[in-house]
Amino acid sequence: MNYDVKGNLKKVLADLPQGVRLVAISKYHPNEYIEAAYEEGQRIFGESHEQELRHKVDTLPKDIYWHFIGHLQSNKVKYIAPYISMIEAVDSLKLLKEIDRQAAKNERVIDVLLELHIAEEETKYGLTPDACRELLADGAWRDLKHVRICGLMMMASYVEDERQIRSEFQIAKSLFDELKTRYFADEPSFCERSWGMSHDYHIAVEEGSSMVRVGTTIFGPRIY
Ligand SMILES: *Cc1c(COP(=O)(O)O)cnc(C)c1O
Repeated sequence: MNYDVKGNLKKVLADLPQGVRLVAISKYHPNEYIEAAYEEGQRIFGESHEQELRHKVDTLPKDIYWHFIGHLQSNKVKYIAPYISMIEAVDSLKLLKEIDRQAAKNERVIDVLLELHIAEEETKYGLTPDACRELLADGAWRDLKHVRICGLMMMASYVEDERQIRSEFQIAKSLFDELKTRYFADEPSFCERSWGMSHDYHIAVEEGSSMVRVGTTIFGPRIY
């Protein structure tokens, strides 16, 4: 292992204000990297491919909380439903319904975040703020007893301009506040604002993130 995972992890944790949690994004990194972070006490890891995640779940300690952070196809939900701790990137009612169905089969409730699309890049998945409002206004989600919507997730544009990144986080935060007031005022579990990655987590925590998703800064570049 030619990367100081433990040292990097400590530095990132030291940067996070109290109450902001770290999801260590371990996709494409081998088990030994995850084990190093685990030895430092890290328990939440994020992955974006079902098969890679399955292998890691089978071979790593059982008290890890796994977050699915990638785009999830409906036909893959059944594979992760037995064990996934949170599905972060839900961007359609169809996917939400399928998660509910598979969670019910496993007699559990799965925590999810709605993925917002605010960034200008067109390739990214996610709901526009209006699509997100519509999904909740529609009300069908209230019948889904095996999913729990815990907040929002988003990726800011991958740009140098700090003001643009900051303003995208602000849009996400204000939508979170709006939805919280309108739909989840009585639900303390609706509390997650998952934004901030390696290049922008310092800005994200200033703009109301409750959970950052950091990979490269901890584990080094990914080898695809
Ligand atoms: C890969 C990934 C991350 C981590 O990105 P880094 O730049 O390596 O910190 C965070 N969020 C999502 C959705 C990702 O796919």
